Amino acid sequence: MPGNEILGKEEKKHVDEVMSGHHILLRHSFQNLRGNQYKVDELERVAEQKFGVKHALAVSSGTAALRVAIAALGLPRGSIIATQSFTFVGTVEAIVEAGCVPLCLDIDETLNLAPKALQDACNKFDISAIIVVHMLGTPARMDQISEIAKSKNILVIEDTAWGIGGKFGDRFLGTIGDIGTFSFDYAKAITTGEGGMMITNNSEIDFRARAWHDHGHENNPEVARWEDTRHSSGFNYRMSELTAAVGLGQFEKFEFIFESHRANANAIWDEIKHFEFIKRRSNDDRALESLEALIFEVDNSVTALRLKQHLTKLNISTKILPEAISWHFSKTWNHIPEIITTTDLSDSEDRLRRCISLPVNIKQPTGYPQLVKKALEEFS
Ligand SMILES: *Cc1c(COP(=O)(O)O)cnc(C)c1O
Repeated sequence: MPGNEILGKEEKKHVDEVMSGHHILLRHSFQNLRGNQYKVDELERVAEQKFGVKHALAVSSGTAALRVAIAALGLPRGSIIATQSFTFVGTVEAIVEAGCVPLCLDIDETLNLAPKALQDACNKFDISAIIVVHMLGTPARMDQISEIAKSKNILVIEDTAWGIGGKFGDRFLGTIGDIGTFSFDYAKAITTGEGGMMITNNSEIDFRARAWHDHGHENNPEVARWEDTRHSSGFNYRMSELTAAVGLGQFEKFEFIFESHRANANAIWDEIKHFEFIKRRSNDDRALESLEALIFEVDNSVTALRLKQHLTKLNISTKILPEAISWHFSKTWNHIPEIITTTDLSDSEDRLRRCISLPVNIKQPTGYPQLVKKALEEFS
C-alpha cells in the first residue's frame, strides 16, 4: 500500500525547512519574508517534470482536485458527467457538488469503465464530460475510451487517485485524458495526510482551475493581491506549505514506492497463480499497473465471502473487495438521489462480489506470499 509506511527523514527535511526561520505556511504572498521558499510551487514543478505535463496544480484533497477540474470545464448546471459505478464516493460527490448529474456506468473485466457501456450511454444521453477511474491501480481501457470521447467531442478527466505511477503504453496515467487528478490522502500510494493535485497540458484549463481553487484570484503578477484580476468566483482549495513539504519528500521516493508494489505483488502472484479456482483481474495489453492491490476473482460471491473469512483467520487482510463494496459501488448509494444509470448494474455487482482484493504493501513481511499460498491451499 501506501507512502504512509515510509514517512521519514525525506519529508522531515522539507518540513524542517519550512519551520526553521520564517514559518510562512501560505503558498503565496510574504515575498520579503520567505527567502524565496515556495514549497507548493516546488511540488507542482516536481510533478510536472515527473509526469511530463505542462501544468500541475496542488490542492487540498483528491476530491477537491476533481471539483476544481470540473469547475475549469465551465459546464452549465445540470450537465451530465459519465463515470463508472465502481469508484470511491468522492468521484460522484465532486460531480454533485458542481451542480452536475453523475451518470454511473457498468464496469468491464478490468473493473473500470466498460467502453461498451460508455458507447451505449453516449447514444442515450447528452454527456458533457467523462471521469474514468483507474480503480485500485489498474488502468482503464484508455485507447477505446479516448476514441469514443474524441468521436463525440467530450473531454476526459482521469481520476488517478489509485493509478498514480501506472502507465498506459508509454504514458503515465493521468496524462492521457485532458485532465488527470491525484489524491494524496493517508491511504494513497503518495501521501501528504490530506492533499491532491490536478495535471493538464491545456493551459486554459490550468488557468481557470488555478484561479477557481483560490477564490477566483488570477495571481496577476502586474498587481498586488488585493487588486488581483478575477473573472469568476471560486473557492478555497489551496494546499499549505507544510503539506507540500511532505509531498516533496514522498516524490523523492516515487520510483521506490512503485517498484516495491510491483515486486511484492508479483511475489504473491508467483506463489498462487497455479490455483485454478482463481482468475486474476484482467488488464489491457498496454497497461502497466501501479498495483495498489492484487485482485482476483472466484466462481461466485458465496465462495468469495468464505475465502475472505478464511484469509482473515490467518491474518491476511483484504482491501475493499469483497467486504466494502457498499463504500465503492454506486448501486448502493441510495443517499445520493442525483445519480442516474443506464442499466441496473447487476452485471457489475455480480463481478465485484466475486472479487478478492489483497492490499499490496511496500514493507511486505518475509514469508507473506507463502502464507497466502498456504491459505489458498487449505481452502481449495
Ligand atoms: C481517494 C479517492 C478520491 C478522493 O481523494 P481524497 O483525497 O480522499 O479526497 C477520489 N477518487 C478515488 C477513486 C479515490 O480512491
